[in-house]
Amino acid sequence: MHPSTIWRKKLRKKLKKEYGNICNYPKCDSTDRLEFAHICNTKLCGQGRGSKERIRDVRDNPHAYVLLCHRHHSLYDSMREFEKGVIDSTFGTLS
Ligand SMILES: [Zn+2]
Repeated sequence: MHPSTIWRKKLRKKLKKEYGNICNYPKCDSTDRLEFAHICNTKLCGQGRGSKERIRDVRDNPHAYVLLCHRHHSLYDSMREFEKGVIDSTFGTLS
């Protein structure tokens, strides 16, 4: 395996742990296919979103992301802005 791939996997694992290794969606405690979802703008928005750039961006902007299960990530991404705002206000308890 390429060294940068190993580095990325380790970093992703570490970051997931910091987010509790659990879906951050209200009242959800799923651990199914956890993914980082953008909740506010970072430099990465609208640009190439390769996994390498993404995981670095999560590390550099921890408050711009939440960890969501696959189901809630899809749901969140399909929400309209005002709906996202309601959900976003329930995140943000991340220390
Ligand atoms: Zn969930």
